Amino acid sequence: MKSIIELLYLLRNELASSGIQSSNVEAELILSHFLNMKRFELYLSPRLEVTSEQEKMVYDVLEKRCTHYPLQYLLGSVEFYDTVIEVNPSVLIPRPETELLVEKVLSDNSHSELKVLDIGTGSGAIAIALKKKRPLWQLTATDISESALVTARHNAELNKCGIEFLLSDIWENIDAKFDVIISNPPYITESDYAALSPELHYEPKQALTSAEDGLYFYRIILADCQNYLPSDGRLYLETGSEQARAVKDMASQIRPANIAIFPDLNNFDRIIRITF
Ligand code: GLN
Repeated sequence: MKSIIELLYLLRNELASSGIQSSNVEAELILSHFLNMKRFELYLSPRLEVTSEQEKMVYDVLEKRCTHYPLQYLLGSVEFYDTVIEVNPSVLIPRPETELLVEKVLSDNSHSELKVLDIGTGSGAIAIALKKKRPLWQLTATDISESALVTARHNAELNKCGIEFLLSDIWENIDAKFDVIISNPPYITESDYAALSPELHYEPKQALTSAEDGLYFYRIILADCQNYLPSDGRLYLETGSEQARAVKDMASQIRPANIAIFPDLNNFDRIIRITF
């Protein structure tokens, strides 16, 4: 039987030798998950022995993680803006950058009752995070993937959020207007896709890649967004780190004066807000 600290070292070394970068953090995340402890608690009882069942579950996950299968799918959930979101290979793993998008929408919009649309909701992360902070908002969330919607609905239930989910290819099944529309669409080109780290190849390709120059979905969203926004509506888009300028140029053909770009924590342009 191994102690917590022995297992931590073992995990860290195995992960590191498989080329996993944050091997220390991941070792802590795996152990704390299966021991049902907070990360810091591992260090409060380092000599505690784990049970053989726990040890087995840890080794199973370690083996899969060493193949670069995403840790989040193995542990089954991520924390996203004060919510817990379950994830599986039918949905994109929500990213910390997207929390900034949620933050921006919340800080700009304090009205208690707004109609809000999240296009391409995936796991439901954005819509759920917003609904939790603004319970009176009326949230609609769409996706083109039936299996993503199953996961998103499940996450909404787990987080006790009433959200309307719709199967829709961008605007296809939308026939209402919204005060705020948000989207973090796929934006990776086919040619960049091949060079992504192995972890990303386990995520749904449809949620990552975009036709043309990676800007296809921005074009489609921008082309028709005015039909779905009132005259004071707001559109928020997350973009790839080198796409914000190009999306801004596209948007400026719709509404030149009211476009703002916001950076992420690494100072990459990441979020575009268009105010109509
Ligand atoms: N809206 C979801 C997210 O931001 C999914 C985005 C996507 O699948 N492109 O996590």
